Amino acid sequence: KLHNTILELKGNIRVFCRVRPLLPDKECNVTEGAIVSYPTSTEFIGRGIDLMHHAQQYSFTFDKVFNHEASQEDVFVEISQLVQSALDGYKVCIFAYGQTGSGKTYTMMGRPEANEEKGLIPRSLEQIFQTSQALQCQGWKYKMQASMLEIYNETIRDLLSPIRPGSNFDSNAKQYAIKHDVNGNTHVSDLTIIDVCSINEVSFLLQQAAQSRYLFEYFANICALFLFGRIRESTQMNEQSSRSHFVFTLRISGVNESTEQQVQGILNLIDLAGSERLAKSGSTGDRLKETQAINKSLSALSDVIFSIAKKEDHVPFRNSKLTYLLQPCLGGDSKTLMFVNIAPEAASVQESICSLRFAARVN
Ligand code: ADP
Ligand code: MG
Repeated sequence: KLHNTILELKGNIRVFCRVRPLLPDKECNVTEGAIVSYPTSTEFIGRGIDLMHHAQQYSFTFDKVFNHEASQEDVFVEISQLVQSALDGYKVCIFAYGQTGSGKTYTMMGRPEANEEKGLIPRSLEQIFQTSQALQCQGWKYKMQASMLEIYNETIRDLLSPIRPGSNFDSNAKQYAIKHDVNGNTHVSDLTIIDVCSINEVSFLLQQAAQSRYLFEYFANICALFLFGRIRESTQMNEQSSRSHFVFTLRISGVNESTEQQVQGILNLIDLAGSERLAKSGSTGDRLKETQAINKSLSALSDVIFSIAKKEDHVPFRNSKLTYLLQPCLGGDSKTLMFVNIAPEAASVQESICSLRFAARVN
């Protein structure tokens, strides 16, 4: 029997696991699940076949485990304090990690068209705007700025750029150079940053970002068609958005007019690229390159988070765009939460164990 307990994580890093419900497959067959039970609110037991073809029971422990019945509200209740702390001047990062189809986007964005299925991005923003308004009567005035980008093959794409993708397709890396100033603020040259005053304004920007992601893919295909006479092959496993990291950033600055107190908080909400391994997504060519870039940046992220947790002197922030971009918001007195999303199907067991080990970091 395999038992993995998360490292005694020091500081402000927490790992939550969320198992999505079984989904009916394309032929509407009843799929076999791999998760056996949830003995407590912090662990689960699963079963599966290991690489040696032996049946195994495995169990994992996290700061919190959400089972398939957990609603979006149940999840948000557990993170609302963390979101709130961005208004108090903390730097906060919330990541969703897992294979394609495990529920990352559901957790972060949810189904915006169904109110109770809204994910934690819209819920967090609602809470932040509500609270900042409520704090006005105590003299607080807040200014919020949003930016949205994706990192694809180690290249930053501005999702709010007024210049539509295509006109600056595969923009050279120099354009979006990342710099950190002495105050620990990050600047990405040419990145569009927009002042936002209400949830409606941000919702509009989120829609614009989703459209840009789609357009980037569309133009990539058009270019490939002209250059190579074919559109790029798609992965067997899923849609375009799964191959890039989506980073939503809200910068919050608050001034108290009576006490002259000032706060600067940042909330980063990140829907990571799918973590599936090379073999499974059956990649070749363009897709192979993408998968390698994804694997590289995800392992760079894991290296950074765990060297912070272990309080090592050298944290390898520079090994990927994602970790370098987020450097000021990881470590120090910032707060990090990683969701590990798990697909419960028996067929996903190997992939799930990889995700869980990534989070537990005890291979
Ligand atoms: P990912 O972003 O990791 O590729 P998605 O979030 O797109 O995965 O989820 C895959 C599918 O499963 C979607 O149809 C999504 O609506 C559904 N799903 C994921 N998590 C849940 C959940 N907790 N409850 C209900 N449906 C879910
Ligand atoms: Mg997704």
